[in-house]
Amino acid sequence: MRNSPASGIIPFRTRRLTTPDALIEAGLAAPERRGEIEAVAERYAVGLTPALAGLIRPGDAADPIARQFIPDARELIRDPAERDDPIGDDAKSPVKGLVHRYPDRVLIKLVSVCAVYCRFCFRRERIGPGSASLSDSEFAAALDYVRADPAIWEVILTGGDPLTLSPRRIAATTGALAAIDHVKTLRWHTRMPVAAPESVTQAMARALRAEGKTAVVAVHANHPRELGAAARAACRRLADQGVMLVSQSVLLKGINDDVETLDALMRAFVHAGVKPYYLHHGDLAPGTAHWRVPIAKGQALMRDLRSRLSGLAMPTYVLDIPGGHGKVPAGLPSIRGDGAGRHIVTDPQGVEHIYVDRLEEP
Ligand code: SF4
Repeated sequence: MRNSPASGIIPFRTRRLTTPDALIEAGLAAPERRGEIEAVAERYAVGLTPALAGLIRPGDAADPIARQFIPDARELIRDPAERDDPIGDDAKSPVKGLVHRYPDRVLIKLVSVCAVYCRFCFRRERIGPGSASLSDSEFAAALDYVRADPAIWEVILTGGDPLTLSPRRIAATTGALAAIDHVKTLRWHTRMPVAAPESVTQAMARALRAEGKTAVVAVHANHPRELGAAARAACRRLADQGVMLVSQSVLLKGINDDVETLDALMRAFVHAGVKPYYLHHGDLAPGTAHWRVPIAKGQALMRDLRSRLSGLAMPTYVLDIPGGHGKVPAGLPSIRGDGAGRHIVTDPQGVEHIYVDRLEEP
């Protein structure tokens, strides 16, 4: 029905920069970094689309878009705590390509390729051109698993990036899942609206929709410059077909670990019609220590952000517990007990107040 990994991927792939030579020739990396970039490229996939390459300021080594995609020698330094499978997908995978971590939802990793390869990717050991996507029979087995468990209410399609598939294959996947009565929500995690906005066509948007089901797209972006006019137009095409849009970002050192950038990023999402949803604490993926921000700093940033943004623009800061134990909110609680039956409530400016429950007499 759907999956032959060599076919059905949309044609943006041919125009990408995927080698050290291509990055250097495009002026996006200095020639003297060739050896470093080649060494990393032998280990991890490289990919940058014209849309994102066009947003990079040439000659600026600290450019926040370039740094997310240009290999760096530090990727080859492995911290002892880092893991090939940092969020424990394997421990919760009853059939190949499917992760069942929470009772009411599963995740299906449809493809192993992306339009761009983020240098901090949490699945970097499992994705790239040499990795296999789900075969027809593996997808059929995943469908059987979903069909057999009436508690599964939501299916999350991920990878890799599932919106690298053609509208025809997306429609086939949507149709197969939508035919399962107890599945009510299909959520697609993707970087395509920013990485290849021209590929997010009306036909693709229509392929995500199914009668009686809720279609959600979680748009991945980490810096406000990623959400320019083309990305906003791609989001609009999805929204016009009735797709709900939410955001996902990673808190990244030197990219968005300051309140001004996070503020601008979340406002840019809302401007694009995307509800800020998740700000991920960096996972323990190999070679990514140089990207991670201390949790205490992430918590302080969230408190500062709350003093500036309405609830509409606030994401939830989340941590995936290594080993597959799930995702938890990582922000500081605003309310705690004082040990005497009262609550201490911290306002967005950090000032504490006493709150006492006033309840109906029994
Ligand atoms: S788009 Fe997602 S899966 Fe692909 S490299 Fe980036 S973080 Fe990893």
